[in-house]
Amino acid sequence: MKTNELKQAVEKRRTFAIISHPDAGKTTITEQLLLFGGVVRQAGTVKAKKSGNFAKSDWMEIEKKRGISVTSSVMQFDYAGKRVNILDTPGHEDFSEDTYRTLMAVDSAVMVIDSAKGIEPQTKKLFQICKMRGIPIFTFINKLDRDGREPLELTAELEEVLGIDAYAMNWPIGMGKGLKGIYDIYNDRIELYRSEADGQKFLELDENGEIKGDDPLKEDSIYQQVLEEVELVKAAGNEFDEEKIANGQLTPVFFGSALTNFGVKTFLDAYLQFAPSPTAHKTQAGGEIKPADPTFSGFIFKIQANMNPNHRDRIAFVRICSGEFDRGMDVFLNRTGKKIRLSNSTQFMADTRETVETAVAGDIIGLYDTGNFQIGDTIYTGKKAIEFEKLPQFTPELFARVTAKNVMKQKSFHKGIQQLVQEGAVQLYQSYSTGDYILGAVGQLQFEVFQFRMANEYNSEVVMTPMGNKIARWIDPEQLDEKMSSSRNLLVKDRQGAPLFLFENEFSERWFKDKYPDVKLTAKL
Ligand code: GDP
Repeated sequence: MKTNELKQAVEKRRTFAIISHPDAGKTTITEQLLLFGGVVRQAGTVKAKKSGNFAKSDWMEIEKKRGISVTSSVMQFDYAGKRVNILDTPGHEDFSEDTYRTLMAVDSAVMVIDSAKGIEPQTKKLFQICKMRGIPIFTFINKLDRDGREPLELTAELEEVLGIDAYAMNWPIGMGKGLKGIYDIYNDRIELYRSEADGQKFLELDENGEIKGDDPLKEDSIYQQVLEEVELVKAAGNEFDEEKIANGQLTPVFFGSALTNFGVKTFLDAYLQFAPSPTAHKTQAGGEIKPADPTFSGFIFKIQANMNPNHRDRIAFVRICSGEFDRGMDVFLNRTGKKIRLSNSTQFMADTRETVETAVAGDIIGLYDTGNFQIGDTIYTGKKAIEFEKLPQFTPELFARVTAKNVMKQKSFHKGIQQLVQEGAVQLYQSYSTGDYILGAVGQLQFEVFQFRMANEYNSEVVMTPMGNKIARWIDPEQLDEKMSSSRNLLVKDRQGAPLFLFENEFSERWFKDKYPDVKLTAKL
């Protein structure tokens, strides 16, 4: 590709993830977006795959399910001159550090909120990560076709609970059975709900914000109230500020109903206008790699094992940060300095896994991996070595002790643990006093998958003893005194040998801080 062709191709890319709490409507809205992109022909395709119950036992039905979760990990489509990449953020029981790491590979995020529930715990956690990265966040308040909370209350909650300024791009006119439409502040129009049959979907507004010509809503008391609210929001609310949107200080808020496909297109059009194309990535050395730089570079943010024991290969997900990927190209792996030929790659579409021939900065590719890659690895071409900034470590919340069932099989036990930990499937700690292995994870399913894979791939049956929720806090080794440890704050070390305490609960953490006021404790995130 020529330099300006590459630049154009990169500028077309919009790579994002949807952050939400389970059931807010992520799948439903994704499906609508894919419909606009012409990828799925019929709503229900994505849903059918998910088939409602992501029950653990099902999930363990290995290959089949794994295949599904791989193919739906990244979906790509073209719309309005843009190439859109949506990265899935696993929720439900498969919520894990992978979900967090995925957010390291996107340029913006769409936050979907259930209008009846407001901000829920998982949304909040995922939001914090986006905030830390300073990426733009767009909010879609969903399920307007049902009765929900007051729009003023919902937008205020964004500011109070998440600490992000909100800018209403539109405002609902009624909700539930009384839903009439949205007052589209940004586009100066009214979008009517379910009015396509009458042939009129949009009513234009004049410079006073009133409907031009015939006003079918004139007598409507809800509409009159909406006019007042919109006045208030315009007068007292935040100003629209593109720079603030770009650095994640202000979130544009859209209302709609994914299920009835109302307001979704309006959202998508505005989103694509303001969402950023791929931006520069920082390197460990303090430099920056620009996306249109012709030399290829990228980093691995996720590794997914092939659960079929006959196929030991794994898929390494690469976010391309600069240049162009060509199948069969040679790259350097920064960690080892080794040269690797990338001949076996996939790009992800909604329905099929296709072999990818080329991809550019902003795109995600999957590389078949036989054990070369680790999460956080940088790959690059060109003479100058590149190493991207380290991916953050996410503090696990759930812990379990792990031992080998058969003491004679220590070798496979250790090998399995080392490899799975390297993959980022779970975090490994070791007790200071007993040397016991302790695993940490963000979600319970990670433990179950770990146990399953130890048995299947490493022929090592393990015994897991749940320790429940803990608060992990690192301590400066200089300040550490092993006597500080107790049953309420277990002292362990992480893989790098750094000491940390696993606190029983907030109370025990506070007790510790009172007892040792000079000791500094840090959370990784
Ligand atoms: P996810 O868990 O966030 O992926 O949520 P889903 O997209 O699977 O939606 C959860 C449930 O909410 C499903 O039963 C959807 O049909 C329903 N749902 C999603 N969007 C809407 C909406 O706009 N209105 C209504 N009434 N239901 C919706």
